[in-house]
Amino acid sequence: MAVDPTAPYDSENIFAKILRGEIPCNKVYEDDHAFAFHDINPQADVHILVIPKGAYVSWDDFSEKASDAEIAGFVRAVGTVARDNGLVVRGYRLLGNVGRNGGQEVPHMHVHLFGGGPLGPMLAR
Ligand code: AMP
Repeated sequence: MAVDPTAPYDSENIFAKILRGEIPCNKVYEDDHAFAFHDINPQADVHILVIPKGAYVSWDDFSEKASDAEIAGFVRAVGTVARDNGLVVRGYRLLGNVGRNGGQEVPHMHVHLFGGGPLGPMLAR
């Protein structure tokens, strides 16, 4: 179901459960502000999700309410995950879905990191 990016944070969402260790994941990275794991339904050879540890529904919520330290930590973590997974030389794609038009399904802010091969057109037509 599409996420309402203006709704209050639901602490029972699946990524919140992953952060609390209640649901397993294939973890690739963790620091004070961010957590990253492989997507359960990969759309590319490499498909990693990077999420902030804070309770933010979407990019909109995160960009408005997160502290400078959380935002800087998250951006640094995305870059670190890309480098650590060998994605930089051949290139990669970052994607953030927000709300219904964006196709966001999980109401915890996340970015998708795709790589491992040519990724095709930016958007499906
Ligand atoms: P979005 O449409 O941007 O909200 O993307 C949500 C992503 O979360 C999808 O690509 C799902 O495959 C992925 N996903 C959902 N549940 C899990 C899970 N338990 N572990 C890893 N990835 C998940």
